[in-house]
This record gives sequence, C-alpha cells and structure tokens, in this order.
Amino acid sequence: MKHTAWLSKKLKSGKIMCEACAHSCTLDEGEYGICGVRRVEDGELRLLVYGVAAAVNVDPVEKKPMFHFLPKSRAFSVGTVGCNFSCKFCQNYDISQYPKEHNHQIIGQEFPPNEIVELAITNRCESIAYTYNEPVVFFEYTYDTAKLAKDRGLKNIYVTSGYETKKAIDLLAPYIDGMNIDIKSFSDKFYKEICGSHLKPVLEAVKYAHEKGIWVEITTLLIEGKNDSDEEIRGIAKFIASIDTSMPWHLSAFHPMYKMLDVPRTSSATLHRAYKIAQEEGLNYVYVGNIDDNDYESTYCPSCKNKVIERSGNIGQFVTNHLDENGTCPHCGYNLKGVWE
Ligand code: SF4
Repeated sequence: MKHTAWLSKKLKSGKIMCEACAHSCTLDEGEYGICGVRRVEDGELRLLVYGVAAAVNVDPVEKKPMFHFLPKSRAFSVGTVGCNFSCKFCQNYDISQYPKEHNHQIIGQEFPPNEIVELAITNRCESIAYTYNEPVVFFEYTYDTAKLAKDRGLKNIYVTSGYETKKAIDLLAPYIDGMNIDIKSFSDKFYKEICGSHLKPVLEAVKYAHEKGIWVEITTLLIEGKNDSDEEIRGIAKFIASIDTSMPWHLSAFHPMYKMLDVPRTSSATLHRAYKIAQEEGLNYVYVGNIDDNDYESTYCPSCKNKVIERSGNIGQFVTNHLDENGTCPHCGYNLKGVWE
C-alpha cells in the first residue's frame, strides 16, 4: 500500500525534503531516505510501509516501558520495518534494519489504521503503542491511526529515539498522550559512531515534547565501557532534572546483540550505581529494568516514601497500583505526575 509521505516539502531545486525527522533527507526521484521506507516516486515522497505492520502484539504498557501511564493496562503495539538510526546494539534489528539490509525490501502484513484500532478495542487495550522500530519513519501511518484511536477513546504512545522534528511533534501532540524517548548516551560521539545520528536533536525533542504537554518517560540502555561513566550518567540525570524531576528515567541492562556481541551484559552493580547518581541529582522516579530486582521497579511517593505502585515478576506481570485516578498517594495525599485515567 503506497501512500504519500505528506510530512515533506518540495524544494525549488526539484528535490523533496522529508520533514519527519532531524536527518532532513533531501531526495531526488528514486532515492530512499536514511530510514529506507520513505522514497521519492513519481515526484512524490511515498511512505512504503503505510498500513503494513511487521510486528503486532498486545503488551502490558509497562513493557514499553511506561510506568506512569495507565498502570496495569494493555497497549496494542505495532511496528513496521525501517529505522532512521542504525544502532549497533539494536534489539529489534531484524525489523528495524530490514530494508537497509535486504535491498530495500518491505515485509509485513496489511493492517490499515481502522483495523489496528478495532483490534486494540477487541483485545481490551486502553492504548496503541507505535513501537518496535522508530515510529516517526512511518509518521503518516501513526498519525492516521492515532486520530482514529483518539476518536474511539483510546490513548496513543510513541516509543521513540527522539529524532522527531518540531513540526512532527506539533502534529502529533493533539493525539499522542505519552512518549518513551531513548537518551542513548550523553555523548555526540556515541550517537555518531554507534547509532548513525546526533545527540542534540534528541535533547531538543525531549524538551519540546514535554513543553507540548505530552507525558514523557526516558529510557537509557546502559552499556559498560560505552556510555556508563559516572560523568555521562550524571549528565543525563542533570538534563532530565533541568526539565522536570518527575520525568521517569528507566535504566536498562544491555545484553549482547546484533553488532555488539563482544560486549558483556550490563551488571547489576552498574545499574545500581546509575540509580544512585540519578537519585543524587534529584530525580523522583528512577527505575531499573532487565534485572531481577523488584524494589527498583516499583514507584515510591516522593513525599512520604511509601511504595505506591508495586511491580514484580516479569515486566507487567504483577502490578498493584495504590494511587487513585488522579495519581494521589493514599498515605499522604501527594499528587504523583503521570497519565492515570
Ligand atoms: S524519516 Fe526517513 S526519510 Fe525522513 S528525514 Fe528521517 S530518515 Fe530521512
């Protein structure tokens, strides 16, 4: 199903500039963008994966991870092939890098936006998550689906690397309720060499999405020897705190994957060290994922320190939410930030 990638503009030179992400690919007839799923055909930028999902699942929202967003609910999760990053540690490289590694081939099954929304409702999901690969590369598909979903009372979540342009965020803001944005490192060198991108646009997107009123949670995959120095962890923590000390930060453990099979799995000690630094910098909600330690996955009231959302077992398996529908702590009346109803 070919579809115009309308988040783009025609330049005087005759080329077309994509306006979805910070790469701003400027393309001639027949050329593909860096993501491999947007291409100029017959003088138009086309989205080659419109309505073609490569992965569709019902997931606990905690798996996105979103911890301050309708706890214990289900998120209908959808992704396509293609990505604007090329992270050497990608955990979904089989779909994200597919077109680039298979001569621009697109794979997936037809799932038009209305079908995604119907399936979400049938499966008793409260939200739709655009996830698995980078959603901004299939922007128009997410946009149409999110609009329909909103009309039917569902919420929408972007799980993203944070390379959206301001224009993309402006268009998404009325429909996207939550974003989990990766800050993969606090070093431009890391972004450039390991991910094929840059740090600055990511930090700008985090700030801007928050400014636009989208609920933002951050994830950092810690990789020993690559992005886990005290200095770098503190840099990210300070950046988050400068926006909002109530912005949740998920620290997760790397395990050998894709082009980084020679790097060991992240130890609990490293994750705990990062957790401590984040707390020193004043962040209220820091979570450690991918390790078996439930105390680090629960939510504590910043005021009275009681456990207010308990999480245990596999991610999303056992969740007990003691907050009311406004996010109020039952012990002291403190209002925790998040999307609770
Ligand atoms: S979404 Fe794809 S085509 Fe558009 S600017 Fe980003 S990488 Fe380039």
